[in-house]
Amino acid sequence: MEDLMEKIVSLAKRRGFVYPGSELYNGLGGTWDYGPLGVEMKNNIKKAWWKAFVQERDDVVGLDSAIVLNSKVWEASGHVSKFADPMVDCKKCKKRYRADHLAQELEKKKLPEKEEDILEEHNLNAHPEVIKDLNERLKGATCPACGGALTEVRQFNLMFKTFVGPVEDSSSVAYLRPETAQGIFINFNNVLDSSRKKIPFGIAQIGKAFRNEVTPGNFLFRSREFEQMEIEFFVKPGTDEKWFEYWRKTCLDWFLEHGIRKEKLRLRDHEKDELSHYAKAATDIEYDYPFGGFGELEGIANRTDFDLIQHSKFSGRDLSYFDEQTKEKFIPYVIEPSLGVDRAMLAFLIDAYQEEQVGENDVRVVLRFHPKVAPIKVAIFPLVKDEKLIKMARDLYRRYQSFWMIAYDEVTSIGRRYRRQDEIGTPYCLTVDFDTLEDNAVTVRDRDSMKQVRVKIEELDSYLMTKIC
Ligand code: ATP
Repeated sequence: MEDLMEKIVSLAKRRGFVYPGSELYNGLGGTWDYGPLGVEMKNNIKKAWWKAFVQERDDVVGLDSAIVLNSKVWEASGHVSKFADPMVDCKKCKKRYRADHLAQELEKKKLPEKEEDILEEHNLNAHPEVIKDLNERLKGATCPACGGALTEVRQFNLMFKTFVGPVEDSSSVAYLRPETAQGIFINFNNVLDSSRKKIPFGIAQIGKAFRNEVTPGNFLFRSREFEQMEIEFFVKPGTDEKWFEYWRKTCLDWFLEHGIRKEKLRLRDHEKDELSHYAKAATDIEYDYPFGGFGELEGIANRTDFDLIQHSKFSGRDLSYFDEQTKEKFIPYVIEPSLGVDRAMLAFLIDAYQEEQVGENDVRVVLRFHPKVAPIKVAIFPLVKDEKLIKMARDLYRRYQSFWMIAYDEVTSIGRRYRRQDEIGTPYCLTVDFDTLEDNAVTVRDRDSMKQVRVKIEELDSYLMTKIC
């Protein structure tokens, strides 16, 4: 299984999906750069999400708030005091570990396999008892890398700090946002006043978030700079549980509609002691990753009225909602689906990756992306390098470029060109051959079945549109 991740990471780099960040300078931990295909795929994921959750709904509007916010925002939200992970350092080699992960790993080694799942992740908005417990679990433990002694478990705030303006003092401290959600809460009144939305309604945002993770890893799963797609859905208190159920199902369906296999997804409700300080209930949509099995893909939380109350208190502004019909005034409850773009991309990559035995000693590597997610929708080839075929193929290429990202390739054998497209998940390949000059039709080859059909050029538009859009 680890092997599968190695193959995916290597394909991602070789074909231009994802490169290690700052590689030219030996890298920068927990950062990744998206190459020509990666940026297309990432944009497709964001577009598909925005379409389903903003464009095609009447009750969600969009927002794009700033990344650097007034630091009062993070005091109000609890991030300055509570957004921390427990960590330990090796006194000898200085390697840093997330204390709960290290404890878990060491305990796993001691347990027979079937008991592994009784180990649970702690609520990491760590209470003093959690730190105490972790110190006990790590008593006598040494650094797995060098055997050196470990420090006591300490809290480590995950927010990146910076200074705004020319003076570096406590009054100019600011943080890069660790979640996009707070930008939404602080604009609640602005959106309400300018959009005339009535409760229940939501505000969606896609944007960068930054967390100084103690141990980033597992490729795109945990990085220090990533993107989130979040909705804060504002509802009347008392209807929150119904809406929570609604969003659990709707978010799960979104993955299924975009091609993730059902058996690789599950919903996991948080135990009471696992909930964040602001949440009344939370469910993770989990994906069965090749590393460690099921883990969080998306989080759905009932954040109650916590954030709006906090921002009312800290800003001194009234963030309550007045219901014109019932003449009631209340602070709305909030249901929040929160999904990492990069983590979604990772799940799409893993889920799509397949190696197929073709014939006796040939293996076909194919990414079976849903057409909406695939970076390139159609590849167009002249069968051989003949001027007439090249001209027709190029004309088709220009035509479809205005609809989608299209590839054109005239190098190497047709079989190898198909395989190159399979490996990056292109759903359809069109080949212009000598018959095309006579019958005005092209060969359309399907990535998944590898079946080929002849389609008249005048019917090609509607043929491709129904399959790709
Ligand atoms: P964890 O417990 O794994 O640290 P979390 O519960 O703190 O994660 P949330 O705050 O719920 O994560 O974040 C919402 C979503 O943002 C996650 O479901 C995930 O998709 C994404 N996400 C969070 N942290 C990271 C990260 N470091 N790298 C990539 N994506 C992330």
